[in-house]
Amino acid sequence: MRKIEHIGIAVKNIEESNMVFEKLFGQPPYKHEEVKSEGVKTSFFMNGPNKIELLEATSPDSPIAKFLEKKGEGIHHIAFDVEDICAEISRLKDEGFVVLNETPKKGADNKLVAFLHPKGTNGVLVELCQEIR
Ligand code: ZN
Repeated sequence: MRKIEHIGIAVKNIEESNMVFEKLFGQPPYKHEEVKSEGVKTSFFMNGPNKIELLEATSPDSPIAKFLEKKGEGIHHIAFDVEDICAEISRLKDEGFVVLNETPKKGADNKLVAFLHPKGTNGVLVELCQEIR
């Protein structure tokens, strides 16, 4: 695993949160993207070298809707940049982590992604992401 690629924040209303984070960072999101398969709308901000992803649920059975119901708004996941997501998935499985997506799937912002179950990572939902080249 290399650097933190981004931090994902679950929000109830992405339009309102975009305005909050635009004020915080002094610039608007550089990208808006809906990921239909995940039932989410996302927006991405750069602040210096750091990237923040906002996520709003677009359906009640979206993982984000369930997270908001249980925990409310806040940090949802930490994403790490990986060179070879398939190699990393197999390494982490061998280490005993529960990988939620054994086959990586297409995520937002031109990435292949896979998640680790937070039960195995002290409550932190970890996303692996590899740039699609
Ligand atoms: Zn993410």
